[in-house]
Amino acid sequence: MIKPKSCCIVGGGPAGMMLGYLLARRGVSVTVLEKHADFLRDFRGDTVHPSTLIALQQIGLLQRFNELPQSRINRLSVRMGDVVQTVADFRGLAPFDYIALVPQWDLLNLLAEAAKQFPHFTLQMQHEATALLHDGDRVIGVNARTPNGEREFRADLIIACDGRGSTLRDSTSLTVEELGAPMDVLWFKLPKPPASNGELFGVIGAGTAIVLIDRNDYFQVAYILPKGSDMELRSAPLEKFRQTLASLVPELKDSTAAIQSWDDVKTLEVKVDRLKTWHQPGLLLIGDAAHAMSPIGGVGINLAIQDSIAAANVLAPVLAVGGEPNDALLSQVQRRRLPAVKKVQALQLALQNNALSAVLAAKGEAPKIPAPIRWLLKFRILRNIPARIIGYGFDREDVE
Ligand SMILES: Cc1cc2nc3c(=O)[nH]c(=O)nc-3n(C[C@H](O)[C@H](O)[C@H](O)COP(=O)(O)OP(=O)(O)OC[C@H]3O[C@@H](n4cnc5c(N)ncnc54)[C@H](O)[C@@H]3O)c2cc1C
Repeated sequence: MIKPKSCCIVGGGPAGMMLGYLLARRGVSVTVLEKHADFLRDFRGDTVHPSTLIALQQIGLLQRFNELPQSRINRLSVRMGDVVQTVADFRGLAPFDYIALVPQWDLLNLLAEAAKQFPHFTLQMQHEATALLHDGDRVIGVNARTPNGEREFRADLIIACDGRGSTLRDSTSLTVEELGAPMDVLWFKLPKPPASNGELFGVIGAGTAIVLIDRNDYFQVAYILPKGSDMELRSAPLEKFRQTLASLVPELKDSTAAIQSWDDVKTLEVKVDRLKTWHQPGLLLIGDAAHAMSPIGGVGINLAIQDSIAAANVLAPVLAVGGEPNDALLSQVQRRRLPAVKKVQALQLALQNNALSAVLAAKGEAPKIPAPIRWLLKFRILRNIPARIIGYGFDREDVE
């Protein structure tokens, strides 16, 4: 009888949970190690784009996903001074003409519950991988800290899905290309005033920009500031920060009182990078562990899920019949995904190093979108182009 090969996935984020589900569904024996006790963590992004909705539909989970509490947006707009400009318009796109905003833990719980139906799937919470195990040059497992002490997990293939601060990536000598970012982001919640019109709302001011993500009863707010200026901002009185917010978005003036201390404001150090090679014998890295994305476009979750689909499409047919996860196979995953990652990162870098840098450097008055671009954006068909890129991405993978 053929014995399928085994996989150990480190990290139960969007990449790890989706890959765990997809491999187990194809009969591959999978163990996912997640260091936290649950998926209820701080805000890490909620934007489920059409590319992910298509994947959920293809694996038969869309109906259950639709039952999760969510809001939907079909336009991304920015306000500069008193001008509001829609920059991406999903209306008219098919099969999905919206982005769903769903707390990430709900999506991860859904995938975990669905994966547990497969006999080959095991999810180990509170299991933190601490080091790779080697046999010569080949990775053969990981050491993990568990509630019952240190334990070894051995598998035919280890897949690192442990995010932008990947411990497993740090344990290798793989080369990382740092692509840089001119900004950091502060995250916090503000109560939502009654009127909201189904658009993701960016507000551009002089020296800063904010994004308001509608989470039904409150806004998750991203405040963008020049890289490294976080400490300076935090050393000023909190009231000054509240006033800056109120001057950017006057309708949030009353809501700013909800920020009671700087502890309510979390800093995300933005980094954009990618590995030159995503694999070595016995080890594959995907998602943020292989390429940390800029927050521009809110594409990180969706790219991580696309990586999982590509990895499952390449690996499952081989592993399920006992085939070797050799370097040639692992490099196919990178070859399928790298072009899309490069294209998205190139667009993000172009936007952050030009438009966003100009906003961050502006003094006095908020910069304006150049008139020719505003004229082009009058046409929905042209506003559909950025929406298609953000929502459907490049080189979209279908679940095989
Ligand atoms: C503040 C913030 C806001 C964001 N907003 C958005 C957004 O709006 N839209 C969007 O698409 N993207 C957003 N992103 C990016 C998005 O979260 C990531 O791109 C995406 O989650 C990457 O998925 P992943 O599975 O590769 O990694 P992660 O989501 O980082 O998941 C990694 C998982 O591995 C676990 N882990 C880490 N180390 C270990 C270990 N040693 N052992 C075991 N488990 C481990 C972690 O607990 C985590 O569950 C945001 C990120 C941040 C930080």
